[in-house]
Amino acid sequence: MAGSGSAQHRLDKIVTLIGAEMGADVCSCYVMRAGDILELFATVGLNQSAVHKTRLRVGEGLVGDIAAHARPVALANAPSHPNFAYRPETGEEAFLSLMGVPILRGGRVRGVLVIQHKDKRVYFEEEVETLQTIAMVVAELTAGGELVSQQEISAVADAALLPTRLEGVGLNRGLAMGLAVLHRPQLTIRQMVAEDPDVEIERFRKALEGMHTALDDLLRASSVEGGEHHDILETYRMFAEDRGWLSRIREAIRNGLTAEAAVQRVQNDTRARMSQMHDPYFRERLLDLDDLTNRLLQHLAGKESLASANLPDDVVLVARSMGPAELLDYDRRRLRALVLEEGSASSHVAIVARALDIPVVGQCTDVLTRIEPLDQLIVDGDNAQVLVRPAEDIQDAFHNSMTVRAQRKRLYAETIHQPAVSLDGVEVSVNLNCGLLIDLQHLDDTGAAGVGLYRTEIPFMIRSEYPGVDAQTELYGRVLELIGARPIVFRTLDVGGDKSLPYFADQEQENPALGWRAIRIGLDRPAMLRQQLRALLRASGGREMRVMFPMISECAEFEDARAVLDLEMERLVRRGGVPPARVLVGAMLEVPSLVWHLPALLPRLDFLSVGSNDLMQYMFAADRGNPRINTRYDPLSPPMLTMFRHLVGLCEEAGVPISICGEMAGRPLDAMALLGVGFRSLSMSPPAVGPVKTMLRSLNVSQLREYIETLYPVRDHSLREKLRSFAIDHGVMI
Ligand code: PEP
Ligand code: MG
Repeated sequence: MAGSGSAQHRLDKIVTLIGAEMGADVCSCYVMRAGDILELFATVGLNQSAVHKTRLRVGEGLVGDIAAHARPVALANAPSHPNFAYRPETGEEAFLSLMGVPILRGGRVRGVLVIQHKDKRVYFEEEVETLQTIAMVVAELTAGGELVSQQEISAVADAALLPTRLEGVGLNRGLAMGLAVLHRPQLTIRQMVAEDPDVEIERFRKALEGMHTALDDLLRASSVEGGEHHDILETYRMFAEDRGWLSRIREAIRNGLTAEAAVQRVQNDTRARMSQMHDPYFRERLLDLDDLTNRLLQHLAGKESLASANLPDDVVLVARSMGPAELLDYDRRRLRALVLEEGSASSHVAIVARALDIPVVGQCTDVLTRIEPLDQLIVDGDNAQVLVRPAEDIQDAFHNSMTVRAQRKRLYAETIHQPAVSLDGVEVSVNLNCGLLIDLQHLDDTGAAGVGLYRTEIPFMIRSEYPGVDAQTELYGRVLELIGARPIVFRTLDVGGDKSLPYFADQEQENPALGWRAIRIGLDRPAMLRQQLRALLRASGGREMRVMFPMISECAEFEDARAVLDLEMERLVRRGGVPPARVLVGAMLEVPSLVWHLPALLPRLDFLSVGSNDLMQYMFAADRGNPRINTRYDPLSPPMLTMFRHLVGLCEEAGVPISICGEMAGRPLDAMALLGVGFRSLSMSPPAVGPVKTMLRSLNVSQLREYIETLYPVRDHSLREKLRSFAIDHGVMI
């Protein structure tokens, strides 16, 4: 398309060609220069004397607007737009309609391509796409160093290459350093237009076959390993056969595009259509399709998977967003941290990253344009920040901090398999919170006694469709197999609130946390609860089972849920199934009202588990997911600790075991306070076991208990600093 001759000559030819092909009165190309200036480099239709004279700042006028937002603009009446900036030297007053697209390369805007018409004209979506496709070719020309010197191109790039600090949301704690690997880097598509569609169709067929074989291999490997990622891969595999998707690609090839351009084009279309949808189900599907597109482009380019291609030893993965299976594609031994432009604490990838124990910072704006491949990065999950290209002294400081952490980690590793006993001989049961099979595969390494909270909703959230009784029975069977003789507490489905199921259309609720969620859904939709309990009882294979119901607010709710369980027990026995040797039934205490109904409930309970995450939000009326207030109140405060002491006392009197499974149980200082108020059973995420056991083994519980007695009546907002001083003074390793 660009032909031969100097770059300027080729650009002149290109604008003339585009103008003629698109029937436009004007076609102009603006190129980005140092200082964020867009300079008119070539035009047909505007005054030639304006070339290299007309300059606009990024953000100035419509052209500047296109560059600033890196998005196309199509206007039937451009001069009436508030951003229109009239430049008399161009003679553009004669033209009414305007369509422009950014020229993008390596995630940066390199210029703007514009066409204009004299008459009022409504541009079609296809025309915008055509111009975008052409802009991909022009992008290569702007990068060649002829139009603008390589030095200037570097200066433009360098301006953005200074050390930067990006803020996000901490999705997993920890500190790590490494080199940026951009997940799904844009593969450059060199040729857009096909010379022979038949050849392209054949290339596409071969690439598709290669991709299918590779996916089958992945699927086979994952079925050996087992786990939720097997389900995810199965869904991908299904999408990879999707007839609609494949026929749209073939059609684009028959219309003249190369196989690569066709694959990319179809994905751009899909993305444009689906990005408007806020439904989490469609967002997850879009990720699947993005992933497939990328895999297909790699097969077309004859490259091996990016995940296994030459990776640095310390990888910090940077992505807009990604599916959990894609994360598992990478070599876990090299993976140090994850940075996401999107992502929330409950997104699947964050859940898997936590299981892999790597720090994660999410909701980091524009990471893919602000981080270059192989940039040095420091990811600080504790403070929700990413340091990009940090200066050496900063690197040294973080390095020291990481060394101290590594020493601690070694200490934790030594403590993990030692008994969970305090200095004064108090035994504590340290258990795990989990919801993924991969957590269970490493149960032995964590040194936990068992699983205090198995979040059954997580496998439901990962799947694309509701798992029936058989699928659930199989899953729980696998869980029980992995856990062996250790105890495990299955919590029935806890969905609603911030946890939504892709296939379960719950209506918008004004206050989801106070709305239709957890056991409330279970009791209103008993079929779902019955099926889950049926699967759990069936999977037991005659062993003892522990089941608990989430968000019980009053006695009657527990009794109703228990009645459903009894029904399922009867059904199993009636049908000649093997019932569990014993079923221990518990409730989660997350809603304050239950505290005052406990005297009535305790005689009917086998155990009680405190969900302090939710309890905290209801006690203080402070949304746990709202960053403006979720740290405003401290669980280590007189009201919370007083209530905990009351709860422990009630349970002791009634002889009902009590444990706590909210996040605070996994934070050493908080866990210390919980032991001080009388808890003897804690459940936490896998990486917390080492630090909490280390704390426990250096603590004298009776000394602490005495001290805490003096704290209940104080007026302080928080007792954190006082407790921290106690720990430091008494050599407790928090
Ligand atoms: C809790 O609320 O403390 C709890 C453990 O449940 P989840 O965090 O799953 O709501
Ligand atoms: Mg909860």
